[in-house]
Amino acid sequence: MNGIHVLIIEDNQLNFELAADLLEANGCTVQQAQSAEEGLDLARASSPDLVLMDFSLPGMDGLCATRALKSDPRTRHLPVIAVTAHAMKGDEEIARSAGCDGYLTKPIDTRTFIPTLARFLEATGTCHST
Ligand code: MN
Repeated sequence: MNGIHVLIIEDNQLNFELAADLLEANGCTVQQAQSAEEGLDLARASSPDLVLMDFSLPGMDGLCATRALKSDPRTRHLPVIAVTAHAMKGDEEIARSAGCDGYLTKPIDTRTFIPTLARFLEATGTCHST
């Protein structure tokens, strides 16, 4: 995933660092936003290749943030993958109806995280080399 720019919207530092370490070890550049509001600003300013969205955030939650990204012509093309501990039945449908393009559950599985994202990026035509 060399050169892929990932915006991680995540308020928990340990979760952020785990995802960031895995992504950086695979050639990605990583940006963190600790709130939805900051994430929306960064998404507009830096146009990342991929947005990883925590749902449980201070202030605006990740569902609202995803709707905001997907209703803004400047950011609606950005792929958003929910990374959430909300792993109840029906939560994936809620995430997808808010506009999420993918859905991963926490805790992050260190063995499958990168392969899953690489497959997603290949499927969306963002990345051809893993
Ligand atoms: Mn959170």
